[in-house]
Amino acid sequence: MSQPRATARTVPGGGLWRKPLPADPDAVAADAVRRMERYTGAAFARLLRFMGMVTLEWEAAGAVVRDVHGDEYIDCGGYGMFFHGHSHPRVVEAVRRQAGELAQSTRLLSHLPQAELAERLAEVCPGELRYSFFCNSGAEAVEGALKLARAATGRSGIIAAEDAFHGKTMGALSATGKAQYQDPFRPLVPGFRHVPFGDEAALAAAAAEAAQAPGGLAAVLLEPIQGEAGVVLPPPGYLAAARRLCDRHGALLIFDEVQCGIGRTGAMFVCGQEGVDPDILATAKSLGGGVMPLGAFTATPAAWRPFDDAPFLHTSTFGGSPLACAAGLAALEAIAQEGLLQRAQSLGRRLETGLREIGRRHSAVVAEVRGRGLFWGLDLRSEGAGGMVLNELLASGVLVVYSLNRPRVIRVMPPAVATEAQIDFVLEMVDRAAATAAAAAPDLL
Ligand code: PLP
Repeated sequence: MSQPRATARTVPGGGLWRKPLPADPDAVAADAVRRMERYTGAAFARLLRFMGMVTLEWEAAGAVVRDVHGDEYIDCGGYGMFFHGHSHPRVVEAVRRQAGELAQSTRLLSHLPQAELAERLAEVCPGELRYSFFCNSGAEAVEGALKLARAATGRSGIIAAEDAFHGKTMGALSATGKAQYQDPFRPLVPGFRHVPFGDEAALAAAAAEAAQAPGGLAAVLLEPIQGEAGVVLPPPGYLAAARRLCDRHGALLIFDEVQCGIGRTGAMFVCGQEGVDPDILATAKSLGGGVMPLGAFTATPAAWRPFDDAPFLHTSTFGGSPLACAAGLAALEAIAQEGLLQRAQSLGRRLETGLREIGRRHSAVVAEVRGRGLFWGLDLRSEGAGGMVLNELLASGVLVVYSLNRPRVIRVMPPAVATEAQIDFVLEMVDRAAATAAAAAPDLL
């Protein structure tokens, strides 16, 4: 085990590291950032320098990440992919074993990990969802879901929500509700319209309009809890109303649970929690157990029909590889056998109580605290306050992310394998960061 520098910051549960730190971490980090700047573009490197983050993530386990300088962080970010934490032993072991046996598929024969994962996914999905197509990312899962909806209905119209985030490939981007990400790439895929999330009347009006328009209405696509919009929960009855509208117009309901699904809210899926069954469900992020890239769209037999007739209508070289499926299977096993849903609920209650208290104490900068389970957003009163809280947390050993489509909302998404002490540490640091932002408030707001 290597020794971090004497002043390196530790966090609860850190310290058990195997990978030696380099003798001159400053030089290693500066060199890597320089090479990134040169070969992956200047923008991200510039941002790292601006944030004073000329360092590198070096090793991670569970809720803790250690950087090249030996400083530790509790990771509540990762774009929401670490429900299992980093390098979950069960997932790592499954991937290690699978890599030595059969890593990628011939694509002519089928393999056991995919069959097992598809069956397991059907078991944990609500309603009639049964058939899965595996891919490598959330955007691909949404792309596939949209294509299936169009093929299944023979229609082209799609309704999505304002501020929604569904990914950045052309189809998913056309559904993503943020002009800043769309404008440089126009024309987008035609047939998309957006409505305010949570507004049942607006959805009903848009559905009626789309149903009459050329192309008709193929699907309504919603995140049951919006992630990048800043952890926005649906008003009671909204998702059920979307279901009824789809049924009325013969359209499909697609739920994108890429971020909010796979345990994040203390249930396997939000749609299960809400008692509303979609026709197609998109998943990714934590489906790969925080180890492998893995996404899926899972559909009912009725929605799946176009793919029954034409198995090569939608394909992917890497999608559903034995390696990724072994990770997915181990990820679902870990949730079931290690009680991670129950763990997310109990840790979630602790986190909620603490965050709500912080919200009350620092109401000068915190406008609202929203969330469920281990999926929380601190809605700050300005982007400046959000940036300051994020930076303060970074400096004190807590990694969080701002929300892509509403940057003033800081998302706190710890893994279900975190300890109570780690959650308490996060709360203490969020409290301090909010206090610092509150002290600077007149200038920030
Ligand atoms: N859908 C949702 C709800 C997401 O939050 C994201 C990513 O944040 C995506 C889709 C896109 O996933 P990916 O980045 O894996 O393409």
